[in-house]
Amino acid sequence: MKVTQHLEEAKGTLFSFEILPPLKGKSIQSIYDGIDPLMEFKPKFVNVTYHREEFIYKERENGLLEKIAIRKRPGTVGICAAIMNKYDIDAVPHLICGGFSREETENALIDLQFLGIDNVLALRGDPIKTESTFRPHLHGHHFAVDLIKQIGEMNSGNYLVDDIQLEPTDFCIGAAGYPEKHFEAMNLQTDLEYLKAKVDAGAEYIVTQMFFDNKKYFDFVEACRKVGITVPIIPGLKPIKNLNHISFLPKFFHIDYPEELSRELLKCKTNEQVAELGVEWGIKQSKELKDAGVPCIHYYTMSNSTQVKKIANELF
Ligand code: FAD
Repeated sequence: MKVTQHLEEAKGTLFSFEILPPLKGKSIQSIYDGIDPLMEFKPKFVNVTYHREEFIYKERENGLLEKIAIRKRPGTVGICAAIMNKYDIDAVPHLICGGFSREETENALIDLQFLGIDNVLALRGDPIKTESTFRPHLHGHHFAVDLIKQIGEMNSGNYLVDDIQLEPTDFCIGAAGYPEKHFEAMNLQTDLEYLKAKVDAGAEYIVTQMFFDNKKYFDFVEACRKVGITVPIIPGLKPIKNLNHISFLPKFFHIDYPEELSRELLKCKTNEQVAELGVEWGIKQSKELKDAGVPCIHYYTMSNSTQVKKIANELF
């Protein structure tokens, strides 16, 4: 079933979450171990992130360095199929532009269609670690909007094959939004205009980057409505988990902690104290969002359900 259908049929705020494929070599059980504790909250859909290849340099016997491409977390599509099979809920694979030619994208979408997957979160992807800026595949897409257009074309029966009308796909397309602006955008206004372009191209709902200040989300929704974005905007929340997150999350995800939270974080001396505060803050944020009638709250579990379970216990 499509995410938008779940949202339309919901009687209140839905619960959903996102997981990461495990590191290569780990079994599917590690995925189930992260999902099982959250099933009691009746998620309607589970997102599975996509991780493209990274490049590492290995020293050869002759002293020269060899550049090797590796994917540390493969398996997005297989995990989606396994989730649907085991839990009978919808799985939403993330599909990115980075590393894909248009034809590879088309083939990936055909796989998803054959598996009965109805939803796709369409993203550009970040630059890989060895690149300072995002570089698309030679025959691929530069921006998420172009990927969304390709999926939209397939939904109309227009594949890359010339002049042949093929069986249309029927994907519900989601897109990413950034309450605190995407880090590369010149300003929030241009970012919103590009977000509007994604919706005009066919994105039917938006999932936000994590944020820790609900005001940023509410302002973002208002700004989206002002530029004519009318689709549901699902807030994404991430509980802060350890001392490392205090600097890592703002640096990696380009987000700010509100003053009150940063003051409390500074008092924490152990990982356990941070995790406890992360849960308290998550409950506070979630309650306010739920009271405001958001369609769904989407939790970034990073495949660790302990904190999200504690938050969901209070909310769902
Ligand atoms: P875009 O919408 O293409 O935007 C990228 C930048 O380009 C923005 O600054 C935008 O303002 C600008 N822009 C957009 N269109 C144009 C245009 N036509 N001309 C000029 N500028 C333009 N990454 C992964 O690799 N795998 C994942 O599974 C994953 N999941 C995510 C899930 C969510 C909910 C979110 C919020 C992010 C996720 N990401 C993931 C990270 C995401 O790929 C990065 O944030 C990436 O840098 C931008 O992706 P996007 O789809 O928002 O890009």
